[in-house]
Amino acid sequence: MVGKITVITGPMYSGKTTELLSFVEIYNIGKKKTIVFKPSLDDRYGIDTVATHTGFQVKAHRISKSDEIFDYINEDVDAVFIDEVQFLDVQLIDIVKKLVFKGIDVFCAGLDISYLENPFETTAKLLAIADEVIKKKAVCEKCGEHRATYSYKIVPNGGEIDIGGKDKYIAVCRECLRELKNL
Ligand SMILES: [Zn+2]
Repeated sequence: MVGKITVITGPMYSGKTTELLSFVEIYNIGKKKTIVFKPSLDDRYGIDTVATHTGFQVKAHRISKSDEIFDYINEDVDAVFIDEVQFLDVQLIDIVKKLVFKGIDVFCAGLDISYLENPFETTAKLLAIADEVIKKKAVCEKCGEHRATYSYKIVPNGGEIDIGGKDKYIAVCRECLRELKNL
C-alpha cells in the first residue's frame, strides 16, 4: 500500500498547526507510529514541541534540510507530519514522494503565499501533488469576517522571509487587502 499526501495551507493565524496536530492525535489514538518535523530557523537542533492554542502538544524534530527527515524514518513509521514547510527546501517534494511509496502517510502544513503575494515554492509544489488539500481561512483583522486568506505585513522593514507574529503581520481578507493597498 502506498501512503497519501495531505497539505494544509492558508494565511497566518488560520489554524494550520492545530489542524496538523488534530491528525497527529487521530493517528496516535489509532496506535499508529507518528513523527513530527519542523524547520530549524535559528540553527537550534534537537527536539522541540509543536503546540496548538488549546494546549495539545507533540514533540517535533528540528531539521534544517529536507533530507534530514530520512535520518529518523524506520519501518515502524506510519505517518510523517511536517509543519512550516514554506521554510524547507524544494527537495522536500522528492522526499515526500519516497515516503508515500514506503506506505507512509504524509501531512504538511505551511503558508501558501508570502506577504508580497508570491507563492512559496515548496508549499506550491506540495499542493500540486497532494491527494488532499485543506485550505484554511483566518479571521480578518480589519472586518472580523472569517474569510482572511492573506498575511499582510504591518511594518515596513525586513525581507520577504521575515519571521514574526502579531508584531509584524495581520491576516486580512481580499476586500480589506484592496483597501490597505489602495487598489
Ligand atoms: Zn476583511
